[in-house]
Parts: sequence; structure tokens; C-alpha cells
Amino acid sequence: MNTLLIDNGHGKETPGKRSPLLPDGRRLLEWEFTRAVAKRCVELAPQYGLNVVILVPEDSDIALSERAARANRYMKAHRNERCVLLSIHGNAAGNGNSWMTARGWEAWTTIGKTNSDKLAEQLYNAARKFFPTETKFRTDKADGDQDKESNFTVIYKAICPAVLTENFFYDNPDDARYMLSFEGIDAIARVHLAGTVYYFTK
Ligand SMILES: [Zn+2]
Repeated sequence: MNTLLIDNGHGKETPGKRSPLLPDGRRLLEWEFTRAVAKRCVELAPQYGLNVVILVPEDSDIALSERAARANRYMKAHRNERCVLLSIHGNAAGNGNSWMTARGWEAWTTIGKTNSDKLAEQLYNAARKFFPTETKFRTDKADGDQDKESNFTVIYKAICPAVLTENFFYDNPDDARYMLSFEGIDAIARVHLAGTVYYFTK
């Protein structure tokens, strides 16, 4: 069995991590967004032949090291499964008090070349398939692949291939509307599922 472990970032009480108010009165909360994407991944999992596990079923913010520990405990308890970890986030260019211009989608791996880079490359491939054609893909090609690199705690401590995705900017009004739409949530979920399938099958 192939398993996608999902770290849905942040919690109800995490300070900040929210968009300014849209003209229609809506506001994006990052913890709600990441849980909506995770839930959609679970709904769509059978279509992609994947076992999807939500590492943070709580609404509260679970410490980063505990998120990684949950992933690692799952893997040790299910040694017959091939696992990857995707940490789902929304991006922001400012502090959430005003709308900004930055937009787009990006994926991060730890520094250096590992299987996580191959997983990230397949996520970019899936993203180019499922997101609208005008989507801005944010990349760092200095090391020969598209992903950006930083040793973020969850992906650094996970013992399986792990990628952190920044799924559009909630402090850009066009991105925020997409992130709040069914179409957007559905496409973001499909990118995580399809990218994982590409990684396991190619
Ligand atoms: Zn985040």
C-alpha cells in the first residue's frame, strides 16, 4: 500500500495566519484552509489508489516536532506501507493586515538531494496539470530542480520523503478567493494526490 501522510498546518488558536477581510466579508484562516484540503484529499483518495492519513485531526496547533513524530510513529507501525509526508500550508507576503501583490504556488524540501526532491518535482508536474493556466509557479532552479529548500522542522525530522507546499497567498485577494473556492480546494487536493501517485509510479 502507498500512503500519503498529511500534516495540515497550524491550529485554531495560532496567531495571525489569516487573510484581510474580502469585500464580501469572508476571511481565509490558514488552519481551516489546510484542514479543508486534507479532508478533500481523504475524499478523493480512492480515485488515486492512495491511503491518506491526516496527522493532525485536532483543530488546535500541534507542535511541529510532534507532527513529525506522529508521521514517524505511523511509519514504524506500518512497515509494509510506502509513505510520503506532505505538509500543507497557505503562503503570505505580509502580516495579514493588508492585501499584497505576491501570488502563486511553491514547494519546499530540505537542503540537499534526497527522494524528497523527486517527490517535489512530481508535485510541480501535477500542479502544472491541475491549476489554472495563469498560475504563477515559484521555483528555485539554482540546484537543477524546481523546489525551494529549507530545513523546516516537520520535513526535516520526518524519516520518509517529505515536502512542504505553500498553496497560494492568502493575503493576495485573487489567490485568497481561489483558496476559499471548492474549485481551488479540489485542485490543491488533486495536486497532492496526483503528485504522490506520480512519485510512487515513475
Ligand atoms: Zn503555514
